Amino acid sequence: MEKWATGIFTSIRGGLGAGLDSVRNLGVSTVQLHAPAADYRTPERTAQMKEQFAQAGIEVTVVFAGFEDDDYATVERVVQSVGLVPKDRRARRLKEVLEISDFAKALGVEAIGMHLGFVPPDAADPEFKAVVEVTRQVCDHCAGNHQRFHLETGQESAIELIHFIEAVGRDNLAVNFDPANMILYGAGNPLEALDLVGPYVKSVHCKDASYARKPGQPWYEDAPLGQGDVHIEACLRKLNALGYEGALTIEREYSPDQVGDLQAALKLLGQLRGKILGA
Ligand code: MG
Repeated sequence: MEKWATGIFTSIRGGLGAGLDSVRNLGVSTVQLHAPAADYRTPERTAQMKEQFAQAGIEVTVVFAGFEDDDYATVERVVQSVGLVPKDRRARRLKEVLEISDFAKALGVEAIGMHLGFVPPDAADPEFKAVVEVTRQVCDHCAGNHQRFHLETGQESAIELIHFIEAVGRDNLAVNFDPANMILYGAGNPLEALDLVGPYVKSVHCKDASYARKPGQPWYEDAPLGQGDVHIEACLRKLNALGYEGALTIEREYSPDQVGDLQAALKLLGQLRGKILGA
């Protein structure tokens, strides 16, 4: 894969054909794939997906795990419902994450990623220790599949994330850097965060967000790339200085014109790649 191969975050829930066609039409060479539900992860369907991505010349760089009962309606609901942090859901979800790791391996994908949830900041908290333990289990299973495990940024400050990664102490634990999430969750300045978590970054979401919220705007609503407060050019320059070679994955979740925004973001990234890499 070439340095900073551009791609998009995609889902095949609506049927692989439709998803793959729109990805192909955008002309990207990589995707991050939201893991489909269990009934789509059968060996037959997985082999079929692998073949279709290969024929389209599209590399899946990360498979992202999410769950049917994740609830992003409010930040409070995220705390209660998302990732491996909610205690009442942890065992069931751990089992599914390990299955998703196996699914990703069958697809030939070298990393899985997820929102772990709001990790308690205090290392003395028994729940901190429990989340460290469950994360080790995911890392060790991924290691057996020759994979990394990427933590999505934003639900804790950069320094808390570093402390957590060090507490887990596994070489294949890495970071999926999402600068917009830092703004949306109020988890700090994305550029400053990159100074800290930079060495752990193995995948990137090119996503924007504005600090100023419009009246009635949902907390999670992002901005078209280049139009928010992320300063994507400065982020990319910093990633370049850090030696980041991986994919640039555009994530555009909430937009009345998703395809238009994706096309504009691809154009912007093309210009920035040229400007920064001279490529
Ligand atoms: Mg993201």
